[in-house]
Amino acid sequence: MKWIPFELHTHTPHSDGKHTLLEMCREAKRLGIRGIALTDHNTMSGMSEARAVQEETDVVILPGMEWTTFYGHMLTIGAPYCDWRDLGPKDIHKGINRVHQAGGIVGIAHPYRMGSPICTGCHWEYEVKDWNDVDYMEVWHELTPSLKRHNSQALQQWTTLLDEGYRITATAGRDWHHSATHNEWPAVTYIELPEEWEDSAAESVVHAIAQGRCMPSMGPLLLMEAVMGESRYSVGDEIPINEDSEQTVTLQIRIVMSESFVPYGNELLVTRVVVESNNGVLLDQLWNEEQTQIAQQVELGSIRWLRAKAMGVMQEVYTTLVFTNPIYVRMMQSEAAEEEMYGCRTIE
Ligand SMILES: [Zn+2]
Ligand SMILES: [Zn+2]
Repeated sequence: MKWIPFELHTHTPHSDGKHTLLEMCREAKRLGIRGIALTDHNTMSGMSEARAVQEETDVVILPGMEWTTFYGHMLTIGAPYCDWRDLGPKDIHKGINRVHQAGGIVGIAHPYRMGSPICTGCHWEYEVKDWNDVDYMEVWHELTPSLKRHNSQALQQWTTLLDEGYRITATAGRDWHHSATHNEWPAVTYIELPEEWEDSAAESVVHAIAQGRCMPSMGPLLLMEAVMGESRYSVGDEIPINEDSEQTVTLQIRIVMSESFVPYGNELLVTRVVVESNNGVLLDQLWNEEQTQIAQQVELGSIRWLRAKAMGVMQEVYTTLVFTNPIYVRMMQSEAAEEEMYGCRTIE
């Protein structure tokens, strides 16, 4: 498996983008991004250029769309065109089902971006009756996303949903409209994919995002594994425990630079690693460049999810540089509890 840098939210002149697909993919290649999701507003017509652009730039182009409505913006990836125009504020699940049935996934775009009158429909207002239906949420939106106020609200909402037991994947999306030079910097979403992912790129990416094998980052890779005996669990995995079993894991954390996405190289300085969970902070350690790994034992007990972030300096500001999606923990019924539940204990 490999962590591959993607840009998951992009526009071209097929909606309101200012750069062509070819210009955008050339710039993506220059940055070291290996794939993009083309998510024009309410159309997939831009995909007609995808094959030629992909051949020229070697940047993989995934089919997607951004439903752009009065009640919010929803991203799709990996599905063919699915209609959204009949969806009222209480009907979002009807639309989500269409995407899921077509083999795609849905994500809420910039849930806390300012709505009307600044940007009508940009703020998420659909009634979500079951958050299990939402595959991902754009927790990092726009350039230098960790410094944007609306993203801290999105992070808070994502955390609340995790605490409530939902498994929603956090992603980054530049909402990329033009390739002009910026003072602000883009993030990417690293996606953990098998070696042969390009043979069925859309399917592999859809599966990985749905599983939570994603990491929004300004560049560094933050690799976290939970080791229990012979088993190793990484981001997106679930650790099964029961009351009678071992509940201690060793968290192993490493920070490495990506092989391809290194636009800021030495300009980012990681100084701290934090592991958060539904029970609060589990680990908070200083990090220096000579360090190769952090290892710490953690008692799982009532922990149901844990995720890591690396803090540091970017453009002279101290902020989050990368964060992982969670490793989840599931409390399985112990044998005794199961017997009680199903009444199958043999009485001698
Ligand atoms: Zn939008
Ligand atoms: Zn957009």
